[in-house]
Amino acid sequence: MNPVNAKDLRGVFRQSSGTELALPDLTPIDWGVLDYLGWVHPSGAVAYVVMPVAGELRGLRLRRALNASARPRTRMCSWCHHVYRSRGTALFSVYVEGSDGRRSIGNQVCRNLDCSLRIRNLVSDPPTYLPETLHIESKVRRLENAVLTFMSRANVLA
Ligand SMILES: [Zn+2]
Repeated sequence: MNPVNAKDLRGVFRQSSGTELALPDLTPIDWGVLDYLGWVHPSGAVAYVVMPVAGELRGLRLRRALNASARPRTRMCSWCHHVYRSRGTALFSVYVEGSDGRRSIGNQVCRNLDCSLRIRNLVSDPPTYLPETLHIESKVRRLENAVLTFMSRANVLA
């Protein structure tokens, strides 16, 4: 994705204060290997995802819940399809107001929102349990589509 700055990010999340946003240090980010920018608030309970959609930055503010069950289980990231043997994903969810009232939608996603690095094999710890022979272009498209679908369901594309 193209580089974005702190002002861009504050513009996407206008309703959130600076402390709520807890913007990450953008200086060391290698934008060329990112399909979306995601960061976790220091509390661990909130996360933000930003992705350009048709040339415009769109953002998600998500609740984040680590999988607390005692027994580790195999889970796949819904966005990048990395498969973890145990606790590599977290549940990222958002409340949506719809005609049928308020409901929560959520996805199991890499807990540190590092999907872009995982599909490019830039982080391999832990390695995926089910390696795929899929071109990086296809993985990027699948990842972007998954984020797009979530954004659409979360009504942030309207
Ligand atoms: Zn992922």
